[in-house]
Amino acid sequence: MNNKKYNNKYGIIEKQKSKASWFVLLFLVIFVMSFFYINYVQDLVYHNVYTNITEISEQTATQLNLSISDQKYFVKIMVDSIKRNHFKTIDEIYERYSGDLGNFHFTRLVILDKEGNGITSDGIEVHNYSDIEEFFNQDESIVYLSENKPSTVSDNQVNIYSRKFNFYGEEKVLLATVNTEDYQEILLRRLFGKGGTYLINNEGSVLIDSFGIIQENNVNLFDYMRENYKSKNEKNIQEINKMESDINENKVGTFDMGHKGVAYFIHYEKLDINDWYIVTVLSDDTIAKELIRVVIISTVLCLAVNLIIAFVSVYINISNQRRNHRVFKIAFIDSITSLGNERYFKEKASAFIEDETKNKYIVAFDIDKFKALNNMYGYDFCNKILDKLGETIVEILPKESIVCRISADVFSAIFSYDKNIESLLEQILKQASNIKIDDVQLHLNLSIGVYKLNKKDKDINKALDKAYMARAKIKGLYDKNYYIFDKLLENRLMEEQEIESCMDEALEKGEFKIVYQPKTLAKNEKVIGAEALVRWHKNGQIIPPYKFIPLFERNKFIIKLDLYIFEQVCKDISIWKEKYNFVPTISINFSKLHLENENFIDEYVKITDKYNIDRSQIDLEITESATVDENIDILKMLKEIKKKGFIISLDDFGTGYSSLSMLQNMPIDIIKIDKAFVDNANLASDKNIINYIMILAKRLGVETIVEGVETREQVDFVKKLSCDIIQGYYYSKPISKEEFEEYFNRNK
Ligand code: C2E
Ligand code: CA
Ligand code: CA
Repeated sequence: MNNKKYNNKYGIIEKQKSKASWFVLLFLVIFVMSFFYINYVQDLVYHNVYTNITEISEQTATQLNLSISDQKYFVKIMVDSIKRNHFKTIDEIYERYSGDLGNFHFTRLVILDKEGNGITSDGIEVHNYSDIEEFFNQDESIVYLSENKPSTVSDNQVNIYSRKFNFYGEEKVLLATVNTEDYQEILLRRLFGKGGTYLINNEGSVLIDSFGIIQENNVNLFDYMRENYKSKNEKNIQEINKMESDINENKVGTFDMGHKGVAYFIHYEKLDINDWYIVTVLSDDTIAKELIRVVIISTVLCLAVNLIIAFVSVYINISNQRRNHRVFKIAFIDSITSLGNERYFKEKASAFIEDETKNKYIVAFDIDKFKALNNMYGYDFCNKILDKLGETIVEILPKESIVCRISADVFSAIFSYDKNIESLLEQILKQASNIKIDDVQLHLNLSIGVYKLNKKDKDINKALDKAYMARAKIKGLYDKNYYIFDKLLENRLMEEQEIESCMDEALEKGEFKIVYQPKTLAKNEKVIGAEALVRWHKNGQIIPPYKFIPLFERNKFIIKLDLYIFEQVCKDISIWKEKYNFVPTISINFSKLHLENENFIDEYVKITDKYNIDRSQIDLEITESATVDENIDILKMLKEIKKKGFIISLDDFGTGYSSLSMLQNMPIDIIKIDKAFVDNANLASDKNIINYIMILAKRLGVETIVEGVETREQVDFVKKLSCDIIQGYYYSKPISKEEFEEYFNRNK
């Protein structure tokens, strides 16, 4: 069924939504934070790589500088000592220094004359060395280092140190050869295999390529890079151009560029030798990417854990709410109509009453003769009627109304409405009078009581009572289906308050007196007993029960009063027995409130024992409506009463809610058919029902009394239906004890 009915502004569903969106927000915040975090880490990593590559490059340059100046120094020492005439022959020179060559990574020495002829330190003859001019062109005072070139004696690339000198009048040059590979090794040493370094001169010619990619001689690094790192935008070219001009001006620098999804970090550092530069290249493939991958993985993991935690807590939360919702439903929702129940109404209406809203109304509805419908159509069908009526009321009343089913066929609503409330009620009445359920067209008659709340109203129970009072006023008004609480009822309420203030005293002073209404056996019209009815003699006036009994039911004073009446009746019976030796059965009314107290029957038994009364002479009348109270185990209590020997009759039968089938299980001796059925006896439907009740009663072995019989026609009518006992004004009104004694003696 639809949940909207109780899911109004006082409902609980909205809270669920706000919690869920809270989690979405939290997730978004985490997501955005991790995005910034990853960016931040990436920046950090890039920054790190920049310093790293600068350091690597500088260290490589230092290493290269150091090892070259070591080698230069060795060559200088050699030539200095030759100049100082320490050696007679070239062989002597070789002999002296051959042993030290390895320490300085020289492969061999060779001393050549101007034609390029000579013999190497390891005994290889050299003739007409083609590059001899390059070495003789250098200044005598310096040690010269050549760019790399192919060796004449091996397959290696070599770099050659040289210095001129005069050897016994002849111009010679000392060449010391180093394998270019050795420098390559230094260029790579600091990179741990994670990039490479180019050695270039300041025009950009690649002397050594530690990557081993550029094999040809005389490749220009700037051109090579411009060619190989072309990108869509001009940025890479610009960076390479800048490097070129920096190097021309002897500057150092660092930059990065992207190519085919890889980021390259480049640092160029000047060497102390010649016009040489080293250019170190790292790619993020090697360092940065790994780091960033780790960061991304850990962030994603973190995010996943967060997500899982969020989902788990959302799940727990939702299932908690579901459970709460279920508990809430059990405690507050009426399963038949899906509307709130009485408890829900009182709670929500109490909150609503506190609202500042104007024109607030509280309205009570019930369905006339719902009991009859129950008998006619059964519970399942009638539950559909209740559901449909609930829906109708919700539909017609303003949106924010709180509409609940209070009990059986009683609905109540509280809402604020600025326009004419009567037209609203008319609409509900009209719809109810034309309801279709399972293809059955029904004409429901409602009784509606309305109370308009004012600022002083703070107690929902009192306000609801006023609506009930207004509704009760309709019974007996044939032309009206609703009644709005008015001055008249206000006065009655005051009267009731007055009654409440003096009831205890009245009981003590014996103001409550009994009258007896005779009961007559239908078959021979002889009196067999009476019903005891209470009258309040107050200040010389007699107040009838309808003015105080409903009030006493509400304030529970009825319990005291009933016990009092019961004792008075027992007293009367014991006197009659002694005086006339007659034993009428006396019916005594007792409120259903007694049934709430498990031990009430013990008190009644005590009194009958006290007056020595035969309990089968006493007929306890319980109203039919009492038998449908869910809070009391009626059956158990009735069995208890029966066990003590009392007679039990079901009063006002046909006005309440019990179904005929319920009678089968109840230990009831007599059913008392309500006056209304006799009054409407000429209505075909009522005639059918009363007939049906009689037949059923016969079958169950239960006696029947018809009450409220006023005319001879009615007597004949009920006699024809084979009713057992008749009670009503036709035979006698309720009369005093003395009058009853006399009546009994006359008619027995
Ligand atoms: P009830 O038990 O249904 O009692 C029958 C009512 O119908 C009595 O009204 C009686 O005077 C009235 N009555 C009987 N015959 C006729 C008739 O032919 N025509 C008309 N118009 N009325 C008839 P009463 O005495 O005013 O009592 C009203 C109700 O108050 C009783 O209805 C009963 O429910 C309650 N009541 C009376 N005395 C006691 C009592 O001591 N304890 C309790 N708990 N309830 C009581
Ligand atoms: Ca009665
Ligand atoms: Ca009655």
